[in-house]
Amino acid sequence: MQERARDLRGGCGRGDRLPAVRQLADDVWQLSGLPANGVNAYVVGDVLIDAGTRLDRGRILKQVRDRGLTTHVLTHAHPDHYGSSHAVCDALGLPLWCGAADAEAVENGRIVGPNDRTLPGPQAHPVARRLHEGDEVAGFTVLDTPGHSPGHVSYWRESDRTLICGDVMWGWHPFLLRGGLREPIALFSPDVARNRESARRIAALEPALACFGHGPPLRDPAKLAAAVAKLPG
Ligand SMILES: [Zn+2]
Repeated sequence: MQERARDLRGGCGRGDRLPAVRQLADDVWQLSGLPANGVNAYVVGDVLIDAGTRLDRGRILKQVRDRGLTTHVLTHAHPDHYGSSHAVCDALGLPLWCGAADAEAVENGRIVGPNDRTLPGPQAHPVARRLHEGDEVAGFTVLDTPGHSPGHVSYWRESDRTLICGDVMWGWHPFLLRGGLREPIALFSPDVARNRESARRIAALEPALACFGHGPPLRDPAKLAAAVAKLPG
């Protein structure tokens, strides 16, 4: 499917124009942000996947307010992925779901850092459902892809080979906003070796469309496989 921008007009006031939400595949949209592809959040069906940093609250609410969302889920419990989760769930009355092994961090407003030490994170929020391998979310299957966080999950739709994979791999360097596919900086992954196993797992799926936490969507499974093949061990 060709990527196309859709202008959605909101109900916030006459002439208000919401930022363009980009449809990537059937029932899959990427929210816009500044810079584009910097910190990604996606809507699949009626589910919001990830909610950026705490500074992303406004832009996310603007773009999803009229979309009839029923649920908010996470790829992982890092501050650039659940930073606005509490605010969005509160504003829209959504339950929050995340990978089982990340639930404690979310419920305590923490993140799991190196050596499994926890550090202060975004605003805490109750987790209504702990996700496990094989669960279904809006037509996607939950895959356990730990390493970058203990409970990191990805969302996979076999029928059109669409993958939403959080930070198992970065689509580019999130601070430089350029460069090619890469593994996340080791400092941010409490278990680098495990994350590499997760990266090999997602590359082996040969996703026709891979949607990252940072960086533009990728429609080139060979490119993903080549980047993952270069990882040590
Ligand atoms: Zn991230």
